[in-house]
Amino acid sequence: MSHNNSIREIAWRQHTAGRPNSFFKKINDILDMYQLPSFNEIMNQHYNKLDWKNIVRTAISSHWTVKLKADCEEKSTLKLLSKRNLNIGQTHNVWDTISSPVKDVRKAATKVRMLTGTYMLQTLKVKFIQAEIDPTCPICKLEAEDLQHLLTSCPAYRHIRKSHFQQIKEYVVSKIGNSVWTINFNNKMAITELLIDCQSLVERNILPNDKMILRTIEMKSRDYCHLIHMKRMNITNV
Ligand SMILES: [Zn+2]
Repeated sequence: MSHNNSIREIAWRQHTAGRPNSFFKKINDILDMYQLPSFNEIMNQHYNKLDWKNIVRTAISSHWTVKLKADCEEKSTLKLLSKRNLNIGQTHNVWDTISSPVKDVRKAATKVRMLTGTYMLQTLKVKFIQAEIDPTCPICKLEAEDLQHLLTSCPAYRHIRKSHFQQIKEYVVSKIGNSVWTINFNNKMAITELLIDCQSLVERNILPNDKMILRTIEMKSRDYCHLIHMKRMNITNV
């Protein structure tokens, strides 16, 4: 009897003994959780190492992707995040577009906080810290300070909007045409979505599913969001 065969026999014996909390019971639970082939199938089918690795990688990724998407749908702070391209093992557009290290990472970090609903605006402070905090924008005092206000309305950032948002708009118009722009971007929520996670607009067929275009919008909007963030820091720290 070969060495491998005796190991197989021991494994079988242990498996059929089926003691709770045994190593083999745990293996069964894990196979079950990831919807992998059962212990019996694995023992009978002689998977080669590479095939088995691929089966496991795919099963684990899809299990956690499903869980991640379900979790994201439940979180109101993630409403601006496009769930379609969310996959375990793949980075979001916001990280994929980084080229020069330090500066871009800092900008992307600002963007990620906006994207994940953790960027500390007055409305978020009310939600997470204290109900007594006033959600009104501390700078213009015109309306509640949420992302939409920050990125599309607050007069404190008018200059940045004029120079940098204009560029983004011109770029998008050059790709989708003036009429598609006018129909779809006539409200501030759509503009906010474009700036925060343009991939959600691909899902609604407003933007073309073109990696180059989406990356360009991501890079331009990252600069825009970061400029606004820096200006906000400057004003609120004085
Ligand atoms: Zn304001």
